[in-house]
Amino acid sequence: TVPGDWARRWMIQCAQVMRDHREELNSLDRVIGDGDHGENLARGFSALEQRLEESASDTDTSTVLTLAATTLMSTVGGASGPLYGTALLRAAKAVRSRQLDGDCVIDLLVAACEGIEMRGHAVTGEKTMVDAWESAVKAAQVAALSGADTQQVLVAAAQGACAGADATVAMRASKGRSSYLGERSVGHRDPGAQSTALILKAAAQTAT
Ligand code: ADP
Ligand code: MG
Ligand code: MG
Repeated sequence: TVPGDWARRWMIQCAQVMRDHREELNSLDRVIGDGDHGENLARGFSALEQRLEESASDTDTSTVLTLAATTLMSTVGGASGPLYGTALLRAAKAVRSRQLDGDCVIDLLVAACEGIEMRGHAVTGEKTMVDAWESAVKAAQVAALSGADTQQVLVAAAQGACAGADATVAMRASKGRSSYLGERSVGHRDPGAQSTALILKAAAQTAT
């Protein structure tokens, strides 16, 4: 199991990571979108960090993830706000009143991934954040089947998300703003898949 204050540390780590990677994510989005992805997420996660600092420090995982969802939905402009918001809302529901063991973490990841697919109507191979989430879920499930503990499951998920983000380079976008570029979107990394890789890396780093 991972510590009870993990979600809080995960989300606060995301705020720092998004500020550190703001320009990188903006640059990716400038090539196949409108250049604001880093800005959007740095703004949203910083607002969340502030709200978490104002909230009671003993809030449970589900409450932290619900606050994250509503904050991102209201402060991240752009497509990624509602997508990550829905992911975190589903994740919050999946972990409610449960112990954070490997099975619970898998359910959290599956719920988040399904939330994004439901909200964005995208499937694997469309060059979106779904490619990173799907790949993360598969890697986490494989790790769990081979006896990985909770932290190892999160590390596998992070590696899977990273591989999924890498795979978007070769894809042609068919959802979201980058789909307007059609064939010209090939050869460029999807910014949302990259931010998902960063978010799941933060999840693994804060689980120790
Ligand atoms: P916007 O395109 O409105 O400026 P962002 O730049 O914040 O929003 O986010 C763009 C990212 O959102 C894309 O890189 C992609 O990963 C993700 N995205 C966009 N549309 C969809 C969708 N329908 N399904 C899944 N992900 C999507
Ligand atoms: Mg954008
Ligand atoms: Mg935008």
